[in-house]
Amino acid sequence: MENVTVVLHTQKIEPVLKLLENSEATIQKKQQEVRITLKQAPNELLLKILLLYEDAKFYVDSEEFTPEFPGVLSGFMNCPNANCVTSQPREPVKPEFVVVRKSPPLLQCSYCGRYVPKEAITPELLTLKRFVPPW
Ligand SMILES: [Zn+2]
Repeated sequence: MENVTVVLHTQKIEPVLKLLENSEATIQKKQQEVRITLKQAPNELLLKILLLYEDAKFYVDSEEFTPEFPGVLSGFMNCPNANCVTSQPREPVKPEFVVVRKSPPLLQCSYCGRYVPKEAITPELLTLKRFVPPW
């Protein structure tokens, strides 16, 4: 999607800045909100923002929309379980989560079965530091 505006009702923007490291984004801080304009906004990035900021609002041409959760999120984030096969640096396994519930979000790792509620989702998990795809 192109030219998406994301409105966050917070001043705590460090987590979103981490997600936006490789994106072309304009950020405007106002009194009560933060406005982020994205030139290119893949659904995956919008979902990550939504997971970190439950009350985030999304607009294209001032039309509000809600990013869609697919049934399965593949290569989306790391599993918080350090013993999970997808957390092992030598295992070329792409992390995968089943979306158990969309609101409030609840994900389940397809490999170890760990349930991951919204509160357990951090920008560190979402930036896939340990994930080096060999394919
Ligand atoms: Zn797992």
